[in-house]
Order: sequence, then structure tokens, then C-alpha cells
Amino acid sequence: MTTVDRPNGPRPPRILAVDDQPANLALVRKILVPAGFEVGEARSGAEALASARERPPDLILLDMHLPDMHGLEVLRRLRESAWGADLKVVAMSALANPEDQRLWLRAGCLGAIEKPITVATFVETVMGFLAAHEGGGELPFALPGEGAERDRLGDILVAAGLTSPDQLTRAVASQRSSGKRLGQILVEQGAVSEDDIAWALSSQLGYPYIFLTPDIIDESAARALPGDFLRQRRVLPILRFGEEMTLAMADPTDQRTVDEVAGRTRLAVKRALALGSNIEAMLDRLFAGPRPATDVEVTAEAQYLQFHLVQALQQDATEIHFDPTDEGQARVRYRLWGDLVDRAAQPAELHAAVLRHLRRLTAAGESAAAVAEARVSAAGHDLYLRAAFLPTAAGPAATVAFYPRRAEVPSLLPLGVSDRTVGAVRTALGAARGLVLIGCADGFLRSTLLHAFLPEVQRGKVWTLETLPIYRRPTLNQTIFVQPEEVPGYLRAAEAAGADLLALDDIGGRGALAAACNVGAVRLILAAHPHDEPAGLLALLVEAPGAAAAAAALRAVVTAQPIRLLCPSCKEATVPETAVPEAGLPGGAHTFVPRGCEACGFTGFRGRRLLTALWVVAAEDRRLLRAGQTEALSDRLARESAEALRAQGRSLVEDGLTSPAELARLVEDA
Ligand SMILES: [Zn+2]
Repeated sequence: MTTVDRPNGPRPPRILAVDDQPANLALVRKILVPAGFEVGEARSGAEALASARERPPDLILLDMHLPDMHGLEVLRRLRESAWGADLKVVAMSALANPEDQRLWLRAGCLGAIEKPITVATFVETVMGFLAAHEGGGELPFALPGEGAERDRLGDILVAAGLTSPDQLTRAVASQRSSGKRLGQILVEQGAVSEDDIAWALSSQLGYPYIFLTPDIIDESAARALPGDFLRQRRVLPILRFGEEMTLAMADPTDQRTVDEVAGRTRLAVKRALALGSNIEAMLDRLFAGPRPATDVEVTAEAQYLQFHLVQALQQDATEIHFDPTDEGQARVRYRLWGDLVDRAAQPAELHAAVLRHLRRLTAAGESAAAVAEARVSAAGHDLYLRAAFLPTAAGPAATVAFYPRRAEVPSLLPLGVSDRTVGAVRTALGAARGLVLIGCADGFLRSTLLHAFLPEVQRGKVWTLETLPIYRRPTLNQTIFVQPEEVPGYLRAAEAAGADLLALDDIGGRGALAAACNVGAVRLILAAHPHDEPAGLLALLVEAPGAAAAAAALRAVVTAQPIRLLCPSCKEATVPETAVPEAGLPGGAHTFVPRGCEACGFTGFRGRRLLTALWVVAAEDRRLLRAGQTEALSDRLARESAEALRAQGRSLVEDGLTSPAELARLVEDA
């Protein structure tokens, strides 16, 4: 058996094995310990980072599919930290294809080991990787050579067809004589646009992209370095907390500048990508003319929340979760297309400070469980923010949901709602009285549907009662309410106030649906409910106010379910072996499946559409309702809506916009 030969070594080589499966960890330990290695274990990305920071290992064996974050995310955080930038990492995976392996190498892995591991050669393989950095051993993969970091940008641009090899050669020659950054030269030569550079760096190298606005820049952090230096290097420190700073860089692969900034400030540097012109504009504001006098003390936690709001907005996230953990570190996660994605870890003191700040901002008071709201602005957006505070076993947690406020009538076109559906609802709303129902579980989408259906010009008074104050329209009377129990009272008041059309979101509360139906018997009402299935809504109507009242008032019901769209940057073509009967797909059809990349926060999805079902209540339906034959009607509605969803979803799958599994998730139980 091979053992570690270390005549001069003061200590055994330390290996950190990262895997969420205890059996895999046990196997690695069983092989490596008798061979003379010291083996540490971690079962998640967060654990791996904490362990590597505390006791830097000689080699990390990193499973790429961890429960809390993708292996690439772990790697990126290591590379961005002062303590983990040079640690040797080998990817471990059972499902690696050559494209994956190239990606991992590019991200800085030394190589990859396929799982299940080959017991007979595992020790040699690990020793090979350990020796590799001393220039000795044979590597399963070629290591990037000296200066590879600097050339990556050029390779990526050429590979993506954004620039030609000739242009790149000229730019590299000019770079040698001028000493400027490669990206800057390519832009100056007109070979590529700044946006191309930003895309290449952010999507291919995995740096977060930030659009800088004055409100996210921590001035004291920015002024810690001379303006001339920042201009020359096209960087800007934007945030500092504790021993860490976030540095916006026009070229985040510029290792020399990162090292210099770290050396000068004695802080760990986290890289972020920003457009060069954007950095220059911010530098002009900061360093030209006198310092702006600020009488408001901006605290680190306020800046930190602002930073996350801007980041989350730019990434199309809908919520930010601040959760404590038992290990003292708190996690910050964004909700991206339904999934929670790790974004940062923060020390317990910062977590507590951010929660205190949120409570002040929303005037939430001191009670442990609370929901409170505030209006804030971030990155030029006027935001409506709703914070939910809840105690957990590890300490207080907070979730922040936020919505940019809008003044325009939303369009349903980007959500894929057909003209036929919009037309049918508008026609139903042309009547003098009656109830039109919208069913959608997602609060933001429900509000969007309601406002999209509301006629733009109304010869009369339109009164809205809403829980989410996102859309502000000067032609409407808008009332914001919090408790669903308030609905019947508000409805009576708005009716008495002479409203010709009442729009109501949401009527999920007790008695609200019955109240809406009763109003609908005499006036026109558009009401939205969180239940998103026509037969289910019918059952609720039959319960209260009853089938006869529903028959009298109900004109149309439109229900909508969001379906996620595949991330265009990373979706993968595949031919499924088996049919997907739930989605009505035959076997052998060419489809796409999600993979996950930095651009989509490793969720595999970006964007969404709505699958809708429409029920325009016909005379025959009314007759069935009055006769109490709701069962036959309900069966028909369930069948028709499932068919409608399936047909719309299938065409999205056929167009490669979503995956069969995503569709099956929605129509399975329909
Ligand atoms: Zn992606």
C-alpha cells in the first residue's frame, strides 16, 4: 500500500474532504488516514469555507453538488478571500461531463476525481495533486500557465465570437507597449463593447455584476485609496465591513490590483464586476470638487442592506432572507425564481445590526414576530418593502420582500398571456354589473393581472382595494388594506362612495368572496383570489355565498400559474429516454433541461411566464349552477383548465423555453 513519504515534512498533509454524504466522507477517511494523511471533513459549502479558513488544508476534495451551494460558488469564495486564494482544490463528482470539467478548471480547480472513487489508486491520485503545485507530478488536467488569468478574457471573447483572433493579437501587442488592461484596449479599438466585456467576465468567470449607484457606495471605503490610483486601475471600493471590502472592478481578473488594494488597506478583497464607464462616473462624483457635506450618518448596516437590495434587484430576486445559524455566522440568501440561493455569510454582530436597522426602517416595534412595511429607494427604484420578523431557535430571522413601484399599466405580453384571454376578460368587464374573478397564488403577479385587466380610461369611478401597493395610477382611487377581514367593510364603503367599477385584491379572507359576489349582483367588480384553479374557486363560491348567488353574479374566471423559464446561458439540450406523460410529451423528443450557472444563481432558471385557464360563464353554466349540478360543472372545469395549461406549457417546452420536469411539476395534479 502506498503511504505518504515525508522524511523532511514536519506534519502529515492535511486533506479537507467536502461531501454531504457521510458514507463518502467515511470512505475517504478510511483510505487516506492509514496512508498517513490528516483528514478533515465538511458536509456543506458553508462548513467547508469555515473549516478551510480556520485550518487551511493542503488540498480540498470538493464535491461539486452540495446541499447549500454549488461547488463553483465555494471555489469562488475561496478565491476571493485572502486566506483561501491559493488553496488547492480538486473537484469530485459523479456526474461530470467534459464541459463541466472545463468549467471547473477555468474556475481554478486543479483537476477532477470521478465518483465513486477508485480505491486502489486513490492515494496515488491525491498525492499526485499534492505534488502538482511543486511542479512535480503528472496532472490529469493541464494547469493554466503563468499569466493565464490575464489571457482568459481574450479567450472567452474569441470563443463567444465577440472578437476575432486578429483583433485579440493586435490588442495584446498594444497592451505590451501601453501597459493598459486588455479589456480597455479592446473597447478603445472598437473590437468589443463594454457590455460584451461585462457579459464575458460576469457570465463566464462567475463574478457578480453590479451597476453602481451613489446610494450603494460607502464613501469612507472609497476614499481609503487615492483617486488617481482608483482611476488608473479602474476600480472602486464600494463596501467595507469588518475585515472585508467589496471592490468594483472593470476587470476582476486583474490580480495585481487586487493584491495591491489588499496590501494597502489590509482588508480581504471581494471582487465584483462593474462597467469601466460606470466606475469612472462614480469616481467623478466622489473625487471632483469639494466633498459633499452629509449631515446624515450612514451606518454600515444601512449601507449593507442597501447593497443587498441593489444586488437583489439586479439579479431579479424577489426576497432577501437573513437567517441566523448555530455556528455564529448568519446567512444571506436571495429568492431567485422560486429557489433560495446563498449570497453571503455575515458575522452575528452584523446580522443583529441589520435586523435592528430593518426594524427602525419599517417601524416594526419590538415584538418578536412582526410584519412591517416601508418605502425605500435603491438603484433609482422606488421600492415597496415588506419585512417579516420571526424568532428561530438560533436567534431572530428576517425576510425582506420588495417590489419596485410602477406608475404604468402593466403589459401581460412578456408573461405570455394570450390576447384572447385579455380580450375575454375586458369584454366581461364591459358589462354594467357582475363579478370577474382572477385566481393566482403569487401576490405580485396577482396584482399585475388585476392592473393589466383594469381598463385604462374609464368613464366613471374605478376604486381599487389592494394589499400590495405596487402599481400607482393617478386615474384610480386606490385604498391599501392589510387585513382580509376588513374587505366586507371596505367594499360597502366604496360602493356607497359611488364606485362604478371595484377592483379588489385579495379576497382570500373569510367572507370576502361572498361580499364580492353580493356586490357583483348590483355593480361591476374585478376581484383577485390566491386560489389558482377554477374548479377550486367554484367550490369556494358554492360554499359561500352559494351556487345561486354565484350564478347571478359570476361572469368570468381567469386563473394563472407561473412557470419558470430556463436560463438561456446554461440550459442543456437533451433527449429524454422516457416519455413525460404528465406533460403530454412523447419519448425521444428533443428538449432542454436546467443546469445552473452564475448568471442564474445556479438555479437553472431565469424569467417566468404565466399559464392561464379561462372560464367565461355561459348560459348553460348558469343553469347548472342554479340547478345545483355543480359536480358536473366542476369536473368539466378541472379537465378544461388542465388541458389549457398542458397545451400552453407544451409549446413552451417545444420552443426550448422550459423543461419537461418544470411543466410536469405544474400539471401533474391537474
Ligand atoms: Zn444559468
